[in-house]
Amino acid sequence: MSSRKTSCWMISVADHRLWQQGQGLWALFLSVLLLAGCSQDQRIHTLSGQTMGTGWSVKVVGMPAGLTLPALQQDIQLLLASINRQMSTYDPDSEISRFNAGAAGSWHALSPDFQAVLSQALMLARQTGGAFDPTVGPLVNVWGFGPSPMSLTVPGQAVLDAARARVGYQQLQRDDSEAQLLQRGGVYLDLSAIAKGHAVDRVADFLALRGFHSYLVEIGGELRAAGKKPGGEPWRIAVEQPVPGLRDVATVVSLSDMALATSGDYRNFYEVDGQRFAHIIDPRTGMPVSHGVASVTVVHARCGMADGLATALTVLGEQEGLAFAETLGLAVLFLVRDGDRFREVSSSAYQAFTASVTEVHDD
Ligand code: AMP
Ligand code: MG
Repeated sequence: MSSRKTSCWMISVADHRLWQQGQGLWALFLSVLLLAGCSQDQRIHTLSGQTMGTGWSVKVVGMPAGLTLPALQQDIQLLLASINRQMSTYDPDSEISRFNAGAAGSWHALSPDFQAVLSQALMLARQTGGAFDPTVGPLVNVWGFGPSPMSLTVPGQAVLDAARARVGYQQLQRDDSEAQLLQRGGVYLDLSAIAKGHAVDRVADFLALRGFHSYLVEIGGELRAAGKKPGGEPWRIAVEQPVPGLRDVATVVSLSDMALATSGDYRNFYEVDGQRFAHIIDPRTGMPVSHGVASVTVVHARCGMADGLATALTVLGEQEGLAFAETLGLAVLFLVRDGDRFREVSSSAYQAFTASVTEVHDD
């Protein structure tokens, strides 16, 4: 943690028109208005905790009057818990779990966060022709990446076919207000590809409302940065090498008022007979992705979108994904396996965010 106090003085020259009008006054009509001898708190305060099966951390610069760190910690933890109660398939009593277990023909009222995430998910599903699909849950589960313990075995064809029959975002039906969702029977939603990013946005928006201008919010590697660090530098984020267990820096991204999310097949996977099975599934084939893209990093204004897009682009792969990114002007970095190394492939819009690796600060 760095600690520094800065002082600033704002001075206004009240009546310089007298000089312009050439009235020859030797007296100096400078009224110096001391607006503020503002001694601004520029310390970085750090908070952290657990949510959604992973860790969260928040760095804020300064502390608006009337706020305290413990109160902030509690508010953030409560906010995250409420999002988890809506979107965690690991909580059998969450809103999403109650929908997933709902009887055929039942309508389910959706809370605002759930509605927002589902809308984003459906937009991505349509844009990607179903490569991204919030109904992918049955496939995620039979491949061993759902709430039930991992089976570490490759599911048989009949099991896969049965799961695939339940997948398809077109099966989702909302009422006109989009606040109610119909369970047709057997539909199993999985919003994990966006939920963390959405939660980052909610925490960031909460901090902005509380009067913070500079902060960095992170949940399980998905981040959003606002303003600058003390000293005026942008926040710098290391994108890690997509190698399990290794925490080496692949590249560094400069972020200010932007979000960043990374997906890939290197964090959550198992191997059977030397073949890797990862937690991101291509709903079009029913199979875990296996086309050599080890990680995809997306920079976007909103973290929910960055998160969803990173998962979607991992499914699309290098060629299809890059074309998609260029068409939509997205800032995307693919790390593609190339023997023992990784090839960097990036979209045109990504260039604006690259920073030198030597510029990473640990604060
Ligand atoms: P992320 O770590 O953000 O890439 O999200 C991965 C999670 O999203 C997985 O663990 C699944 O729960 C879910 N998921 C897997 N494949 C897909 C897909 N094709 N579309 C949407 N969500 C997916
Ligand atoms: Mg994601």
